[in-house]
Amino acid sequence: MERLSFRQSVDRMVDRALAVMELDPGTAAAIKACNSVLQVKFPVKIRGQIQVFTGWRAVHSTHRLPSKGGIRYAPYVNQDEIEALAALMTYKCAIVDIPFGGSKGGLLIDPSKYDRDEMQLITRRFTVELVRKGFLSPSTNVPAPDMGTGQREMAWIADTYKHLFPDDINHMACVTGKPVQHGGIRGREEATGRGVQYALQEFFRHPDAVKRVGLSGGLDGKRVVIQGLGNVGYHAAKFLSEEDGIKVIAVIERDGVLMNDDGLVIEEVYRHLVENKTILGYPNASFDENGKKALELECDILIPAAMEEQITSDNAGRIQAKLVAEAANGPVTYEADEILRERGIGILPDAFMNAGGVAVSYFEWIRNLSHIRFGRMHRRHDELRRHQYAALLEEHTGTVISDKIRNKIVRGADEIDLVRSGLDDTMRSGFQQIQEVYETNDKVNDYRTAAFVIAIDKISRSYLDLGIY
Ligand code: GLU
Repeated sequence: MERLSFRQSVDRMVDRALAVMELDPGTAAAIKACNSVLQVKFPVKIRGQIQVFTGWRAVHSTHRLPSKGGIRYAPYVNQDEIEALAALMTYKCAIVDIPFGGSKGGLLIDPSKYDRDEMQLITRRFTVELVRKGFLSPSTNVPAPDMGTGQREMAWIADTYKHLFPDDINHMACVTGKPVQHGGIRGREEATGRGVQYALQEFFRHPDAVKRVGLSGGLDGKRVVIQGLGNVGYHAAKFLSEEDGIKVIAVIERDGVLMNDDGLVIEEVYRHLVENKTILGYPNASFDENGKKALELECDILIPAAMEEQITSDNAGRIQAKLVAEAANGPVTYEADEILRERGIGILPDAFMNAGGVAVSYFEWIRNLSHIRFGRMHRRHDELRRHQYAALLEEHTGTVISDKIRNKIVRGADEIDLVRSGLDDTMRSGFQQIQEVYETNDKVNDYRTAAFVIAIDKISRSYLDLGIY
């Protein structure tokens, strides 16, 4: 059988959900279709030579605006991949109730071959292309970071847009994932990894769900293999190990795998990786250059947090994890998904697991439109009130509250607290909805189908309510 492309793989997964729903085929086709795709080729003069770059921006859906999704920079992106990722953005936003359509962008480039100034030139030029063609604006299409991009690129995009439209009072909202001092929001960088943590915490609050995948108890002590120590993998592994007591027994990176049965210290591994640009030479672990093979290690939870198509029909039969938590987009192919399910391995799907990034992007976008930091108006007021309650309590009970306790009780929430609280709520309620469909719909036997059923149901309702224009 010929291998499915990434986009076909996503479509097949959606078809599985459609098969258990009663949706008219026209609406189903409208939901699945990618609305528009822009391909641009633009020249940039680099070191005296003209180079032509190719980029894409796919808009999968506009039932809610703006359409939202990251821009990735990689030496192998293509239109099929960008369309698949744009579709995943549509479903992702719907699952966790983020009122956006789905979009995604990509630029064919190897960022390691260009210096900072050159990257800036290329990014600004790409931004102009997207803006001019109507594929970037605060109200219709808002990019964010993805693989190969980060705060730096988002700041350049925002600044380019501002220069093109200085009269647009909402210019800051044209992109999310910006540095905090340039319109970003605290907690956006950690958001996707933090969301993975909150999602797993919620999963482990459901003993029946935990039991079904052959696990028991809570997160504490669970043996975890993680693939990818980029922004998502690093934060997920760090928070889960430092705060929830998981044991990261293997970290898989581009150049191999580090293994330590007692658990790796993520912060140390990460520092080594950043300083040396490789995990090679890290002292407190054994090393094997066959990283991909380590996906097959015996463990409780496997977290693929690198990129798409990592678990395929080639290795799915050998995966030994009890639960696969998809932190990356599309790490398990359609064929592999079938194999894993047949083998009784639980899968928490990407469109839910990594939704933390776009959730906090939504908070950032709201912050930009309201032009005020969350908590700025009421934080001190809340603190004052709580001081008054503490005083009242002391007066009535005749006891003195220690400074340590008092400070804890009275402290008002600042932006990072509110962002984490909003994110936690988003992930909890996302999982609860998925769990409910899983439990109440006899035809649904896995979390991915449950998640897509929820997404399609919400999107179709908005199509039916609004009509087709
Ligand atoms: N690129 C991220 C994703 O795949 C974030 C998208 C966003 O924040 O708009 O979900």
